Amino acid sequence: MKRVYFLLAFSALGMSVYGQKTTDQRVAELLSKMTLEEKVGQMVQYSGFEYATGPQHSNSAAVLDEIKKGKVGSMLNVAGAEETRAFQKLAMQSRLKIPLLFGQDVIHGYRTTFPVNIGQAASWDLGMIEKSERIAATEASAYGIHWTFAPMVDIARDPRWGRVMEGSGEDTYLGTQIGLARIKGFQGKGLGSLDAIMACAKHFAAYGAAIGGRDYNSVDMSLRQLNETYLPPFKAAAEAGVATFMNSFNDINGIPATANQYIQRNLLKGKWNYKGFVVSDWGSIGEMIPHGYAKNSAEAAEKAIQGGSDMDMESRVYMAELPKLVKEGKVDAKLVDDATGRILTKKFEMGLFDDPYRFSNEKRQKEQLNNQENRKFGREFGSKSIVLLKNKENILPLSKTVKTVALIGPFGKETVANHGFWSIAFKDDLQRIVSQFDGIKNQLDKNSTLLYAKGCNVDDQDKTMFAEAIETARKSDVVIMTLGEGHAMSGEAKSRSNIGFSGVQEDLLKEVAKTGKPIILMINAGRPLIFNWAADHIPAIVYTWWLGTEAGNSIADVLFGTVNPSGKLPMTFPRNEGQIPVYYNHYNTGRPAKNNTDRNYVSAYIDLDNDPKFPFGFGLSYTDFTYSDMILSSENLKGNQRLNISVTVSNTGKYDGEEVVQLYIRDLFGKVVRPVKELKGFKKIFIKKGENQKVDFTLTPDDLKFFDDELNFDWEAGEFDIMVGTNSQNVQTKRINWQK
Ligand code: BGC
Repeated sequence: MKRVYFLLAFSALGMSVYGQKTTDQRVAELLSKMTLEEKVGQMVQYSGFEYATGPQHSNSAAVLDEIKKGKVGSMLNVAGAEETRAFQKLAMQSRLKIPLLFGQDVIHGYRTTFPVNIGQAASWDLGMIEKSERIAATEASAYGIHWTFAPMVDIARDPRWGRVMEGSGEDTYLGTQIGLARIKGFQGKGLGSLDAIMACAKHFAAYGAAIGGRDYNSVDMSLRQLNETYLPPFKAAAEAGVATFMNSFNDINGIPATANQYIQRNLLKGKWNYKGFVVSDWGSIGEMIPHGYAKNSAEAAEKAIQGGSDMDMESRVYMAELPKLVKEGKVDAKLVDDATGRILTKKFEMGLFDDPYRFSNEKRQKEQLNNQENRKFGREFGSKSIVLLKNKENILPLSKTVKTVALIGPFGKETVANHGFWSIAFKDDLQRIVSQFDGIKNQLDKNSTLLYAKGCNVDDQDKTMFAEAIETARKSDVVIMTLGEGHAMSGEAKSRSNIGFSGVQEDLLKEVAKTGKPIILMINAGRPLIFNWAADHIPAIVYTWWLGTEAGNSIADVLFGTVNPSGKLPMTFPRNEGQIPVYYNHYNTGRPAKNNTDRNYVSAYIDLDNDPKFPFGFGLSYTDFTYSDMILSSENLKGNQRLNISVTVSNTGKYDGEEVVQLYIRDLFGKVVRPVKELKGFKKIFIKKGENQKVDFTLTPDDLKFFDDELNFDWEAGEFDIMVGTNSQNVQTKRINWQK
């Protein structure tokens, strides 16, 4: 144990215990021994999908041979102590014995899966989010993984985009805090410790702003908006020492991110002084050809390296083209040295030159298999991610002694679906997932009965199972309906133009509702869905996302009240697709909607209510929280003073519970128009029934800063509204004046 800390202390100083050389010196020494091909080799990453049973069974001898020749720097999709060791052995046959880096999409858990990321974000619980990544890193590192392609810190305001599932929603402040918590969780005590894996801030940049929510699509926006809304989580990640960045498939104002000098060179490696490396997204260097930005692979390689992409994930373009381009004088050899140096630095920091097999450890691997502690945490985390959207007449929580409960819907007995989109899907992990049926059954009283009917499939027009479902509902005292979209309908390349329940699920719901039985609706999804009929007619609605290994238990904990729901929406829920994009921190127009006296609304459609179906930050509890008047330390501030804000929250209901207290501001007038609200702080607090708690926030002039149209980042003197409340619409407001 002591030795580990000793090593860490040295690496924190950039020193190595080996001959007192710094990592920089070790990198420089190694670089000086490398041929151009060997350097470019470090910049190459291949996928190991086809080596599922290990390289010894591979049919692609060419790649294995390239590893032996030092022409590959990293593999993704190779997992397991045995497999990673087998690949590493090949790398150890290369002339300079430079170890491989093993990367993997560890996105919402590894062997133990957790809620999909947008669900985690709904917990607003930074401590739990960090812990979930700590667990994921501990599990993954034991399987020989060095590096995860997470967190995705793309801000997204369009729920048609399937990848909102992998992010933290629409808000820059919340998204930044969550991104930081994830990085801290993955990287633990720092690179070099055995349970830390390198994190990767992706997708750089503005991938979440794809036009029309169509995946991979172009992004067209002002640099001001880009800097203010989309880049802050990345900048914060760079400052926090995230080991790597991944770029994105989209172009930004006509220039693919992969070759974008403004984004990757001027900002990231220039202004932000980032020292880690940038991996391309899968094939994104080669894809610049069909994108219309590079005539051929030589031009793609040239533009990508000029644009700051250090590692080529699976385009197979760098090795084919870069050595030639350098020899022809088209690419400066210094760019190759810089990229290779960045990659080697991480390998040194991970301790791989000291022991290339240190992460491939069967004993640790075994300890992480079906780890009960991790599952216990997953169960709690799942329940904290659930958002209660409606609870008319307090139909929830459900009594465990209800005589007959019917569970109806295509997700009731699903196991795999609960994993969500990104899972490594080891066979035995899939068998361990707790279905909703089992979770509910395990908590129901022994004398009660749980009936089940599938009712329909997830995504077809077949209504033949309706009759059985209606019959099942009739036999019950209460119906739990489990509807939504399929787990593979959100995620990468899963944009949808219609984001209602898929297939005939809504028809099923309407038919079951005709039985007159009380219905609790559980919505499974990786994005905000549109479900107006249900929202208006069904008395209780819980939004469960996809909750991972322990899904069924987490859900039952909330339904039966063992856990009081505390999740809040990290994205605005629209009324229909035509209203998208709709987000809370919009600008006003000069002509606010006629039917709205509240000046906080944009101009309306003539055929639609102006506010969203559910606002950002919204979520109910089984108990009631009452806010006292907020108290400000001053209403007239000057210069670098601090504004203290406090409010007392009382739990006036019948249950202990957690509340997310949210702080927003509005800068009333500016040299560029400012949003009607901006989240600037939040606190998740636990209050026992009948008790209260004082909550404090502090604002400084830094919190008032914004980008003007010349990209200056500063604040302006003037009036500001300070708002505190339980969601982005339900706040109390006080006005202050802050002079320079
Ligand atoms: C995704 C990335 C992912 C990579 C590797 C790409 O298609 O956009 O987010 O990390 O594949 O699997």
